[in-house]
Amino acid sequence: MRWVSRFRVFSEFISILIVFIGFLVLLGWAFDISIFLGPGPGFSTAKSNIGLTFILIGVSLWLLQTRRLNKNNKHMARFLAFAVFLIGFLTLVEYMFNVNIGIDQMLFKEAAGALNTVSPNRMAFTAAFNLCMAGIAIFLMDVKVSGHYRPSNFFAILGFFVSLLALIGYLFGVSLLYMIPQFTAIAIYAAVLFVLLFLALIFARPDSGFMAIGSSKSLVGVLARSMVPAIIFIPIIIGFIGRSGYRVGFYDQSFSYALIALLSIISLILVLWIVIIPLNKAVIKQRKAEVELVKYQDQLEEQIEERTKELQRSNDDLKQFAYVASHDLREPLRMITNFLQLLERRYKDQLDQDANEFIYYAVDGAKRLDKMIKDLLEYSRVTNKKMELQDVDLRDVVHQVQSNLSLLIAENSAQITYDPLPRIAGDKNQMTILLQNLISNSIKYRREQTPQIHISAEKSDYGCVFSVKDNGIGIDPQHLEGIFTIFNRLHPKEEYEGTGIGLAIAQRIVHQHGGEIWAESEPGEGTTFYFTLPCQLNRYSKSLLFSKYSAIGIKIGKE
Ligand code: ADP
Repeated sequence: MRWVSRFRVFSEFISILIVFIGFLVLLGWAFDISIFLGPGPGFSTAKSNIGLTFILIGVSLWLLQTRRLNKNNKHMARFLAFAVFLIGFLTLVEYMFNVNIGIDQMLFKEAAGALNTVSPNRMAFTAAFNLCMAGIAIFLMDVKVSGHYRPSNFFAILGFFVSLLALIGYLFGVSLLYMIPQFTAIAIYAAVLFVLLFLALIFARPDSGFMAIGSSKSLVGVLARSMVPAIIFIPIIIGFIGRSGYRVGFYDQSFSYALIALLSIISLILVLWIVIIPLNKAVIKQRKAEVELVKYQDQLEEQIEERTKELQRSNDDLKQFAYVASHDLREPLRMITNFLQLLERRYKDQLDQDANEFIYYAVDGAKRLDKMIKDLLEYSRVTNKKMELQDVDLRDVVHQVQSNLSLLIAENSAQITYDPLPRIAGDKNQMTILLQNLISNSIKYRREQTPQIHISAEKSDYGCVFSVKDNGIGIDPQHLEGIFTIFNRLHPKEEYEGTGIGLAIAQRIVHQHGGEIWAESEPGEGTTFYFTLPCQLNRYSKSLLFSKYSAIGIKIGKE
């Protein structure tokens, strides 16, 4: 069982015990059973109001147990607590103004002249004070100040020490501690029950306030749970033993003091020892675990560093390979195309229809291969070339693209419009490639009607979000994800020319800038491409991009 539950069980048990004892006290008064009121003739009796108030407090504490806490129970408990407080408070008033309001004997009458009793059946001043404390503590039970501090605990602790003092008074025969001169003495039963009651009040909410430490699993919790009771109860027990030995006549008074001092030291050291050994073991274990952790972290870091280097190397190799391969492949390819074309021109008349057709297909294939290799080269350049981050005005980029594509735009009578476009932090050259790929696709995948392309932008938490919207043939949503994959095409080459590299390049560029690219579309309804880019070159984007790209040597500067 966890300590929180243990404390709760204790609290509930005491609440029932208190109700039970309260009943016994009332029974004692009703049927004159003296053992229910005090241990013997030398002790003052528990008064009938104490019996009553114990029943009320016990019930309210029982109602306030966490597991049966609800609005009704809370109201009921507070009502009972108020009644208890009132009885305590009125008794204090009787003492302070030396009056008799008549509450002392409201249940039972007591013959005048009872032991240590100032007025018949009036409870002790200390008991009345404790009832006030208990009443307030219950009333404030679930009030919290500045987060987790419970004022209720303050009143409970005050009551606890006042009750403990009375108990010590009984144990050591110091009447001043349980009886203020001229006032009624607190009954020993009441003193014991009050000590338990206040503990139960504190333990009723073991998960917050200082009790959170007492019930925690941590080392501090272990220390608190063993040291606090030891510090409170060991001196009392040892003092009692030392004093009893003296009273029985084993030794004189000075010896009893020495004995008490010695036994206190020994037993506190013993308790400390018992606590410290497992604590020490736990600390050593924790330290070992920490050392292991640091070692493991170091190893992990080393591994990551090594892997990163390896990846970087193979990445560089791959880039180099792609570049060289695509560059060098074009040369022999060009030779094939040229000689095929030569063949066609020179021997056209000497060859038959079939042979001319074969040559046509061969040239066509070679041309497409050349275009593919060119695009691949472009793709590998996007990653190979160092990116130059600048403050880029996207309007300039759109103008550039319009001029690059002027022929295509004119042929298709395409209309390109755009909203005010923000400046972004990026590589101007790459931005041009990006927009050029998107816009040329929008024109290429057109429908009958005039191609209309609209570019807009807005700022969001992720940077600037751009959109390029067209009124073309659209894309089936289930194919949307695949379109950015290199060589992936949705149309046969007979329908639309292309290599399937354009969007892969676009995606690379956006990713290099730390952004995302995606598309939304319905077949026949047009397509909208979205991409995000860092807005402007402010300190944030600079540091963001710097941390991201400094490792691979990208220069960050102003235009
Ligand atoms: P391609 O060279 O085939 O145009 P891309 O990588 O540019 O290669 O595009 C991949 C595929 O995505 C294209 O084959 C086409 O099917 C589809 N696509 C791209 N842009 C559009 C668009 N604006 N409208 C409709 N389909 C598009």
